[in-house]
Amino acid sequence: DRVEIRRALLSVSDKSGLVDLARSLHEAGVELVSTGGTRKAIADAGVPVVDVTTVTGFPEIMDGRVKTLHPSIHGGLLAVRDDPEHRQAMADNGIDPFDLVVINLYPFEEVVAARSDYPTTIENIDIGGPAMVRAAAKNHAYVTVVTDPADYDEVLAMLAANDGASTLDMRKAFAARAFQRTASYDAMISAFMVRALDLPATGRHHAVGGTLSLSMRYGENPHQAAGLYLTGEVRPGAATAQLLQGKALSYNNVNDTDAAFELVSEFDPATPSVAIIKHANPCGVATGSSLAKAYRKALECDQTSAFGGIVALNGTLDAEAARHIVRIFTEVIIAPDVTEEAAAMVAAKKNLRLLVTGGLADPREKGMLVKSVAGGFLAQERDNSVIDDLDLRCVTKRKPTEAELDDLKFAFRVAKHVKSNAIVYARDGATVGIGAGQMSRIDSARIAGRKAEDAAQALGLGEPRTQGCVVASDAFFPFADGLLSAVEAGATAVIQPGGSMRDEEVIAAADEHGLAMIFTGVRHFRH
Ligand code: 5GP
Repeated sequence: DRVEIRRALLSVSDKSGLVDLARSLHEAGVELVSTGGTRKAIADAGVPVVDVTTVTGFPEIMDGRVKTLHPSIHGGLLAVRDDPEHRQAMADNGIDPFDLVVINLYPFEEVVAARSDYPTTIENIDIGGPAMVRAAAKNHAYVTVVTDPADYDEVLAMLAANDGASTLDMRKAFAARAFQRTASYDAMISAFMVRALDLPATGRHHAVGGTLSLSMRYGENPHQAAGLYLTGEVRPGAATAQLLQGKALSYNNVNDTDAAFELVSEFDPATPSVAIIKHANPCGVATGSSLAKAYRKALECDQTSAFGGIVALNGTLDAEAARHIVRIFTEVIIAPDVTEEAAAMVAAKKNLRLLVTGGLADPREKGMLVKSVAGGFLAQERDNSVIDDLDLRCVTKRKPTEAELDDLKFAFRVAKHVKSNAIVYARDGATVGIGAGQMSRIDSARIAGRKAEDAAQALGLGEPRTQGCVVASDAFFPFADGLLSAVEAGATAVIQPGGSMRDEEVIAAADEHGLAMIFTGVRHFRH
């Protein structure tokens, strides 16, 4: 099981921790072999190291595209040392085995994140690195492979504990990590190309992979392990945001924060907009003349549910908005940016997480959504349909007024981000009642109405603000009953996709009650 480490191959793009590792290996009597840049970094630190070109008898050519792709290297990585034929091949061809391989790949993900041009990005696809990593990982019966500077200490600890040898258990564990690394690396390259070439999201092009960026204490529930992975997609949001302060993010935090930020990213950045989210559903969304005003309007929709919620803003968090938000218990604030003064205010709440994204997400951008099912996963394009691009058709005798039309668009924008069946009541650029996630549309409508009544009571209003409001439905009303429930609540205008077998019946009911109704032709199921 033990393999004494006598010879190591080091070839790394990320040179952090390299010199310390090289020195420790050298002091343990290990011979070091390295590619150009890595060799130079080690030699500059005064540690003896052999150039890979000495081993291959070949120069590094074609801008480094071909440096280690050579039988002297791959033979040394792949040889089965207990096989007489393999031993003979090594002897005949002057191949020496490698016991340890330390490689990290060209920083493809970082080059993508920096939005480099296409040729630069392609040039940063590592070829020799993954080949060596896979060869060494396959041959873990003998070879130890390390692909992450974070693992260097673990390697040294293993050697120290085993008299300079590796153990099979450790080699297996490192090999599993190595294959994980090359798998996610290739998945990211494939995903980049799908995006860059704007290929349709068909199964033939899909590649899902990611790099672990955060291990959480637990998942949706405390008995479930969980982690956050980055796919390399360059999209401002929950996965890539910078945590400026607060406790570590939990699985549910990230999930809810994503829902919150994707929602506010739907709004024109010139219109201050705020969403408050609980369990991935909005419990209040509003626009206003300032973020603080928008927040207050959003909060009025459902103050009870907003407790312990996630707040997303579509503009720089300022002091005025921060002052209002910190007044009630909030789990996370996410915004494109934050002023110094606002950051100081949030800092007074030590646990409150503050995330900045550097910008808004483009709601029209294509992207892939993945959902696992037993034994597999479903993949689909992001719902990138935006109300402003749709051909809105008024199907009733009465046309909506300008104010109604504004609210209808607002409500439909929000409904897209509410779990189905979604019913959203809105007035004056704010939600006043939201019904989410019910198995029947009529139930969602009833819940939205009841929520509005509860809010009116909490605000000390005589009547719910659904009087004179508009209503949005994420999918068509299959029967007139859902629409009639909205009429009862006081809605005067409706927006929905249309397309039901009973559209005529629903339109007739709308006309009978003097409603204005818009068909969008596009639905927004969300599960
Ligand atoms: P260095 O900085 O030592 O010159 O280069 C190290 C990088 O080169 C590592 O990221 C390693 O994975 C990569 N690499 C090693 N051999 C080859 C090769 O033959 N072709 C390519 N394209 N990359 C290689």
